[in-house]
Amino acid sequence: MPIPELTIRQRLAELLAGTFRSSRQLAELVGIPERQVEDHLSHLIKSVGRDRARRFVMDPSACQDCGFVFRERTRLTKPSRCPRCRSEAIAPPRFGIDFRGGHQG
Ligand SMILES: [Zn+2]
Repeated sequence: MPIPELTIRQRLAELLAGTFRSSRQLAELVGIPERQVEDHLSHLIKSVGRDRARRFVMDPSACQDCGFVFRERTRLTKPSRCPRCRSEAIAPPRFGIDFRGGHQG
């Protein structure tokens, strides 16, 4: 029996709370294909954006050869090649959910 969509999204939100994970890690943890994780994440970004208590954060992709960081990139998928050194050794973006606690205002 397939897992209801909402449950997967809730599970992803739990896995991202207070930490960073790549979509591949999430796919392994939840047991769904990476492409589905990316689809769920795009919905999760919207719902977290409406929630004042939480904030979706992204640790951008980076080239493992020259250290180039893909700061401008907002897509959830990993870039295939470094624009600076043309290396294909790219660390994937990682995602997390921050909680805006009452302590810091
Ligand atoms: Zn590079």
